[in-house]
Amino acid sequence: MIIKQLPAHEAQKIAAGEVVERPANIVKELIENSLDAGATRIAITLEEGGKQSISITDNGSGMIEDDARICFHRHTTSKLSTFDELESITTFGFRGEALASICSVAKVTLTTRHASNTEGLKLTLNAGTITQEAAVAYQQGTTITIEDLFFNVPARKKFLKTAVTEWNHNAALFKAFCLSNLNVHFSLTHDGALVYNCPPVSNIEERIAQLFDAQIESQLIPLTPTQNKEIELSGAITGTHYARFDRSGLFFFVNNRWVKNYKLSTALIKGYLNVLQPGRFPSAVISLQVDPKLVDINIHPKKEEVQFLHPRIVETTITESVKNSLEKSLSHHLKKTVTLSTQPVYTPFERFESPFLSPQPQPSYTRLAKLPEPFFEPLQEPAYTQTFVQEEHEQDSYRLIGQFNKTYLLLEHPEGLFIVDQHAAHERVLYEQFCARFKNQETVQLMFPHIITLNEQDFVTLQPHLELFKDHGIALEEFGQNQLAITATPVYAKRINLEELIQEVVATIKTTDTTDREGFFKKITEHMRAQMACKAAVKAGDELSEEKITQLLKDLQKTTNRFSCPHGRPTSWLLDTLSIEKKFKRKL
Ligand code: ADP
Ligand code: MG
Repeated sequence: MIIKQLPAHEAQKIAAGEVVERPANIVKELIENSLDAGATRIAITLEEGGKQSISITDNGSGMIEDDARICFHRHTTSKLSTFDELESITTFGFRGEALASICSVAKVTLTTRHASNTEGLKLTLNAGTITQEAAVAYQQGTTITIEDLFFNVPARKKFLKTAVTEWNHNAALFKAFCLSNLNVHFSLTHDGALVYNCPPVSNIEERIAQLFDAQIESQLIPLTPTQNKEIELSGAITGTHYARFDRSGLFFFVNNRWVKNYKLSTALIKGYLNVLQPGRFPSAVISLQVDPKLVDINIHPKKEEVQFLHPRIVETTITESVKNSLEKSLSHHLKKTVTLSTQPVYTPFERFESPFLSPQPQPSYTRLAKLPEPFFEPLQEPAYTQTFVQEEHEQDSYRLIGQFNKTYLLLEHPEGLFIVDQHAAHERVLYEQFCARFKNQETVQLMFPHIITLNEQDFVTLQPHLELFKDHGIALEEFGQNQLAITATPVYAKRINLEELIQEVVATIKTTDTTDREGFFKKITEHMRAQMACKAAVKAGDELSEEKITQLLKDLQKTTNRFSCPHGRPTSWLLDTLSIEKKFKRKL
């Protein structure tokens, strides 16, 4: 016999009263028990979101008869015998409490057979008391069926939500188990229909494909492993062309335990650097391995919440890893390139080096010399991170087809047609230049200061914040009544309509809470940079020479977030060859 009853004083040490609130709490405990029992096949069947019945069948160890009879008693467990062991526990659940709690509020049937027995045992329980016992023919493993939840606690039954809500909780839980146990065959049947059938898989991408919408697989990007020694990250995230309307596609696991932590998803979304529009979310499965000493999973009785000793480090690691993975994926995407050896049929411009990868040993900027005035200063020493430095040796080629509608740059790419929005792309380049050169802007002193007159209210609003402009290379001085003189502007912004910019900043200040100094500063700064970039960038409708385009694409490649402009619009877009071929019915 392997199950022991904990001595009363030990039992007391264990924070008692795990409260069963909803069907998903039960499903969680039962699946954990099945996993603890070494099951490789777990079938879950629910009726009415689990309100009517829950049944779980596994092929785990099963129980010998005596264990089966005692497992429903409070504080009976085969998994530890003293409180100290709680600390080092690696299996799930509150020790020895789950089955007892569940049984006390439902009608339960247990059928089980241990490998050492020739026949199985079927027990029927009512509110925790065995009412029937029978020897049955049964395969090795266990089936537990829970019916009539809260039949004896009507007050609690009233609090159950609709079957749809309970189903959603169960479906999310089911996915979490599938995502963290790849070697187990899970299935979930609801109201007679098999909703998920997930045989074992060898990687997380395959698991995600089994569980999420069908289009997701082609959108998945493996998470780049982190350098951080304390936190190991792995998993997969969706690329920038995928979005859903809620956070239900986000799953986090800490030391293989599913956790819900709003800050972790915020950190993840931050890694997308505004590529996704507000209100749109990626899907992602992220697994963190952390030294158990640096994490407290017990703060929540159901162990869904998690508290880190150094939450900031964890969050930054997630953000960085997501950012790098997206970057790498785009580069990889673009790297699956074959060098075009034959001259294409249509060549308005000659071939040039890959715009999205680092300059080749023999770059084509010699051609720039022909240009009397570059439309913006090329970057000499980019002050920001160049994510692709390590890939400099890669040989890649693209072909610029040309400029379309004086707005879009069309690139031939082995995977399809790459379309770049010239304004959005240039905006992004400039924005990052502004960020990189912050407080280090090269400025031009204006020979004749530019005078701006504001109304009284705007002047008063702006006056305390003139420093903000100086930080961006714009020197403003109070001049006459309600007047400002612009005495210097940044080199990069010489074409900007500063009066308009100032008006916009005033409007932003008015709508921003000034009590949170740091937040205020950040918001205004971001806004200012975005506005400056927008105003200084080439516009849709500007005709661009090949050289200008080449330079733009090169600079875009160096930006840390080249997928979107600072306002969140995409900078580029791939129309893949397959979609084109489908349009022409060359492929089905
Ligand atoms: P705990 O899991 O914390 O030990 P439970 O109340 O969940 O407490 O389960 C009590 C005991 O019943 C377990 O320790 C285990 O020995 C046994 N048990 C429960 N479910 C199963 C199962 N599916 N297969 C084999 N044994 C099980
Ligand atoms: Mg348990």
